[in-house]
Amino acid sequence: MKWEENVRKVIPYVPGEQPKKADIVKLNTNECPYPPSPMIQKAMEAFPYESLRRYPDPQATRLVTALADNYGLEPENVFVGVGSDDVLAMAFLTFFNSGKKILFPDITYSFYDVWADLFRIPYKCKPLDEEFRIRKEDYFEENGGVIFPNPNAPTGVEESVEMIEEIIRKNQDVVVIIDEAYIDFGGKSVLPLIHKYENLLVVRTFSKSRALAGVRIGYAFGSQKLIKYLNDAKFSFNSYTMNSATIEMGCACLQDKTYFQETVEKIIATRERVKQELSELGFVFPDSKANFIFAKHKTAKAKNIFEAAKQEGIYVRYFNKPRIDDYLRISIGTDEEMDRLLAFLKRYLG
Ligand code: PMP
Repeated sequence: MKWEENVRKVIPYVPGEQPKKADIVKLNTNECPYPPSPMIQKAMEAFPYESLRRYPDPQATRLVTALADNYGLEPENVFVGVGSDDVLAMAFLTFFNSGKKILFPDITYSFYDVWADLFRIPYKCKPLDEEFRIRKEDYFEENGGVIFPNPNAPTGVEESVEMIEEIIRKNQDVVVIIDEAYIDFGGKSVLPLIHKYENLLVVRTFSKSRALAGVRIGYAFGSQKLIKYLNDAKFSFNSYTMNSATIEMGCACLQDKTYFQETVEKIIATRERVKQELSELGFVFPDSKANFIFAKHKTAKAKNIFEAAKQEGIYVRYFNKPRIDDYLRISIGTDEEMDRLLAFLKRYLG
C-alpha cells in the first residue's frame, strides 16, 4: 500500500517476559525482590482522591525538589520522567542531533539502538574487550555523542570513575550520557562530575534499588543548561508525563532512607553469596556490581538451562545474540528465590 511507504518503521525493543502464573521465581527483569518502602503505602492511603480531577504539576516540582535535596543538588539540575526509558528516549531526541554517529558498546542495554533507529540517529557499536570491559580509546574518535550504562547491562561490569572521566574529558563537544540504572548496588557514581562537565547527563531509576518498577519513575542529573534543554523537548512533547500519584509515591520513597539502605544491602549480600555458589557449580562470570549476575557455564548450554529452568517456573534472561548466547542474566532475588534457583541448577547439572 502506498501510505505504508511513509510509515516510520521500527523494530521495537522486547522487554523480559512478565508471566502471569503464580508461584514462579522471577529473575529475568532485574526488579527488586522486596516490596517498596511502607511509607509509600501510607502516602497512598493519605492521597487526596479528589485531587485526581486536576492535571498534575507539569514540573513535578515536589519530586524534583525531593531528588535535588536527597542528592545535594539544585532543582535546576534534575529532570524526571516515566521510568528511565522515558528519560533516555527524551535525551536521545534532545542531544543526539549532529548527524554524526553516536557511540555505545556492542554489548549493552538493547534499547539504545532501538531509540537511535526510531529517531534516525546514526550509531556505531564499539566492541567490549574479551572481559566485557569498555576500551576507553574507542570513544576518543569524533562522534555525535556517547552513552553507556555503568555498571553495564547485561554484564554487570563496573568501570572506574577515572576511566569514565577520561572519556568525558575527550568528548566535551558532545553530550555524554552515563546510565546509572544499577549504580546503587555498590558502584561508584560519576554524579559529582556534573559540576565539572556541563555536557554530562547521569540517568537513574526507581525501578531497581527503590523497588518501584511498576510506578515508572526515572530521573537525570546534569548541568542547568542540559536539564533546561531536556525540559524544553519534554514540554514540546507531553507536559504531563508524571501523574500526581506517582509524584507522591516518589517523594515518600525518597524519605525512607533507612529502608532503601537496608534493601540494597540485602541484595548485595545475596549477590555475593550467589556468586560463590555459582562458581562452585561451574559457572564463570564477570564480577557484577549490579542486581544481576551474567553467567556462563563451563559445559552446559545457556539456552538449555534457560528453557529447563522455565519449565520449573524459574525465569532468567537469555539473549540469543552474538558473543553472549552462552550467558544467562540472573537477577538477584530473595535468598529463598536464589536457593530455589541453585537447587534447580544442582539437579540439572547432575
Ligand atoms: N537502563 C538500563 C541499563 C536498564 O537495564 C533498564 C531496565 N530495563 C533501564 C535503563 C530502564 O529502566 P526503567 O525504564 O524501568 O527506569
